[in-house]
Amino acid sequence: MIVCSKINLLLNVLNRRSDGYHELDTIFFPLQNPADELTIDFNGDTTGSVTIQCDTPGVPLDPASNLCGKAVYAYCKAAEIPVPACTIHLEKHIPCAGGMGGGSSDCAAVLQLLQEKFALLTDVQLAETALSLGADVPFFLHCKPARAGGVGEKLSILENIPEDLPILLAASDFPISAKWAYQQWTPSYAFPADQSEKLIMALQKKDLQTAAHYIGNSLAFAAFRKFPLLQIIKDEFYRSGALCAELSGSGPTVFGLYSSMDTLEQAKQYMTKHLPGVRIIGGRKQK
Ligand code: ATP
Repeated sequence: MIVCSKINLLLNVLNRRSDGYHELDTIFFPLQNPADELTIDFNGDTTGSVTIQCDTPGVPLDPASNLCGKAVYAYCKAAEIPVPACTIHLEKHIPCAGGMGGGSSDCAAVLQLLQEKFALLTDVQLAETALSLGADVPFFLHCKPARAGGVGEKLSILENIPEDLPILLAASDFPISAKWAYQQWTPSYAFPADQSEKLIMALQKKDLQTAAHYIGNSLAFAAFRKFPLLQIIKDEFYRSGALCAELSGSGPTVFGLYSSMDTLEQAKQYMTKHLPGVRIIGGRKQK
């Protein structure tokens, strides 16, 4: 199964609740590149252990820690079945701890594969199980442009948004802890409450120039301050002709939006040349 990634076209952190969770207004945009590849082999035994195979350093192989393993346990608990013996093969292409939701997407893929095999949960139960595993996991069950509110649990799919936005990514290989990023947030980093509506309207009109104006991330201010490389990458996006450049999620992946695929293709060459060591992802040719 091909497992998509995401960027947040808007991540508006509105408030920190007394329980420590943050209230958000976010717009998820799914990407087919980069994508992980995931398969599950069931060895036929109805009970047994979950094995995770993955060669990427930093990805936990212990099923109690890896979101793929957690997904198996959560599905079986919700469906009230014993955990089946299985091996999950995971080929990672989505940068780890890169703000692109890789773990959550793998998690949603496992839930879907289990549902395909056992078909024991209703859509509502599947969505609830996904939410119990992470605020952005329900989004990955659909992989369509979506807006999420609350602490991420109020998900609505957005209609009439172009699915092939000219987006280029610059993925750095150092991790940023989401916990750290949220700890840096202060109320001054919140955008106006109507920013998401304005962004959605611009996207629906395919007015990318206006959309670029409303793209934003409340977690970006602290990350750009702490990691100068991110500011260098952002500046290069603008030099390459991007309409805007912003951090995705808690970073460190930075994305740029262009006016067309042709501009993006030219920019990709520029970015690859000027940012050695940074993975430039996107465009027509690369898969
Ligand atoms: P988000 O955008 O949802 O905040 P992220 O893209 O920044 O997430 P992930 O790649 O999902 O971050 O991984 C965060 C951490 O989760 C990793 O450092 C890793 O230890 C752990 N993890 C658990 N399962 C997985 C998985 N299947 N793939 C990658 N990381 C995983």
